Amino acid sequence: MDCLFCKIAAGEIPSNKIYEDDRVLAFYDIDPQAPVHFLVIPKTHIKCADDLNEENAGIVAHVYAVIAKIAAELGLSKGYRIVNNCGEDGGQTVGHLHFHVLAGRSLAWPPG
Ligand code: 5GP
Ligand code: ZN
Repeated sequence: MDCLFCKIAAGEIPSNKIYEDDRVLAFYDIDPQAPVHFLVIPKTHIKCADDLNEENAGIVAHVYAVIAKIAAELGLSKGYRIVNNCGEDGGQTVGHLHFHVLAGRSLAWPPG
């Protein structure tokens, strides 16, 4: 499948990895929007949040557990934001489920 994040998960395209296990990969975003900006993706191809169901949504709990572990390791004690863009209006540009983690500055709310 011609999917950028599947290729990154498979190591076919290099990334600046933070964490990896058999189910997920965390790596720094190529175009950071905050002093700390990384992505966490499932290694299996799930297009976006629309494609989550009772059978495969357990990966999301694992992603959040991994984010908490990374946040502690990176010392993000002042907080961070987890963002999942889904679909065109959601601002999704890569069609493989991913969670942004943004930190290191105060983030505005609501988002644009
Ligand atoms: P989206 O807009 O789909 O929510 O987020 C996609 C993110 O992937 C963007 O923040 C973009 O900067 C990042 N991105 C796109 N291509 C690459 C790449 O080749 N490597 C890395 N590390 N990040 C990428
Ligand atoms: Zn994919």
